[in-house]
Formats: sequence, structure tokens, C-alpha cells
Amino acid sequence: MISEEQYYKVQAIIDGRNPNKIALARRTFENEDFPLRRIVKCAKCGVGLTGAWSTGKCGKKYAYYWCASKCNYKCIPVNYLETSLITLLKEITPKEKCLNLFMEFVYKCYHNRLSRLVKTKNEADREIEDLKALRKILVEKNLSGVYSDEIFREQSAMIEDKMTRAQIVKDDSTINKYNIDAVTSFMKTLLADLGETYRRSTIGQLKVLLGSIFPHGIAWDYTGTLNPQISPIFQYIQHFEEVLSHLERVMGLEPTTKDQPPRVPE
Ligand SMILES: [Zn+2]
Repeated sequence: MISEEQYYKVQAIIDGRNPNKIALARRTFENEDFPLRRIVKCAKCGVGLTGAWSTGKCGKKYAYYWCASKCNYKCIPVNYLETSLITLLKEITPKEKCLNLFMEFVYKCYHNRLSRLVKTKNEADREIEDLKALRKILVEKNLSGVYSDEIFREQSAMIEDKMTRAQIVKDDSTINKYNIDAVTSFMKTLLADLGETYRRSTIGQLKVLLGSIFPHGIAWDYTGTLNPQISPIFQYIQHFEEVLSHLERVMGLEPTTKDQPPRVPE
């Protein structure tokens, strides 16, 4: 077992911070009791909420959030804010059909791009082979005295130049070998129930998740509602059935729906 201090030191090293400044690292450590601290803002003044425990009259402890700039003194029970956020996340979770269509679309885009890259790479390979053959002929003609040394040098430099350019094209089209199946299945699990994803997330993951859904932040307006602006991509996924036909036209993709009724001749 490693001690807590060792743990923070290792964390600091991994994050590229100075492991001897542990106090600094620990001060910024997020409090598990108040995961939404700073993530949710006060709708009145725009400052992030802060949180703390307070003791009631009977000695019972309550966890609250409130505006860190104290623009008002309304306390928000931790559970209340969290339930509101989970409700919102469940509301904006895409319907199964939309999500399936979206994932299919992502998959299709990936494979389209992949086949374009393969094509570019093959073309560059062919060009390199042609240039090699040309170089061989050039050498032979120079040796047999058909081409002077001057012509040889000039032609040789031209071939090398073309070769370098083809090599660059080839390298640029090198395909990233990440696993698209793993990526899409991860995305699908994440999007299938945003409320559940929220519950499973660590504070670090929460920031990424909520930041991607609500790029302009989430604000609490003290009437029990959150005022989110949902990111365009999440809006797309929610209405993906309608969006898809438009995208297919714009991007020149094959229609996804295969179950269209056959056309009756007039
Ligand atoms: Zn405020």
C-alpha cells in the first residue's frame, strides 16, 4: 500500500508538477462532497457556486451550495442541485433510435475517411515506384553515355524532389491505428444514459462531460431550474433523425435507411 502523500507525489509527477510542492497540489484537490462546486454558476452574478457543510439546530449536518460572491444568501441543498442536473441530463439523453443513427453516421464517416486515406497512400506508393524506375533508367543512360553528367544531375535532382513530395503525402496519410469499434462503443455507452454517466463519473470526468454538453456553462437561477445552452453536437444527436437526411445530402453519403417502401410505378 502506498501512503496518501506518495499517492499525491506520483500524481504530481504524472501531471508534470513538482512533487515537492504537495501542499499546493492538495489545496486544489476537489472535494468529493461538492462535485458541482465551480462547475455550476450563479445565474444572478455568473460566479461559480461554492459548497460547505452546515450544522442545523438539532446538530444534524447539511451539505449546501451557494454563490461564492455572496450576491445573495440563498442556500441550495446539494441533493437538490444534483437531482435537478440529473433530471436535465436524462431529458437531453438522445432517444435510442437517434443514438443508433448517430453512431452509424460516425462509423460511416470514419470509414469514408479511412478509404480516402488508403487511396491517397496507394497513389503515393505508386508514384514512388515510378520514380524509382525512372531513376534507374536515368543512371543506365548516363552510364552508356546517352545523357551527359549535367543532364543526369539536373534530372536526378528533379526526381529526388518529386520523391520527397510523394513521401510527405504518404506519411500524412498514415492511418491512426486506434480502435474505432472501442471508441464508438465507449461513446454509445456514455451517451445512452447521461444521468447514469454523471453518477459513474469522477470529478475530473464530470468536468469534461458537462463541459462538452454545456460549453457555455450551467447556471442556477434559484427557482429550481438550470439554464443550460446545449452544445450543437448534442442538439444534433437529440434530433438526429431529421439532421441525418440533411447531412447525407450535404456530405454525399449513401442513405442509411434501407427499409424504405419500394416505389410504385405510376
Ligand atoms: Zn451570485
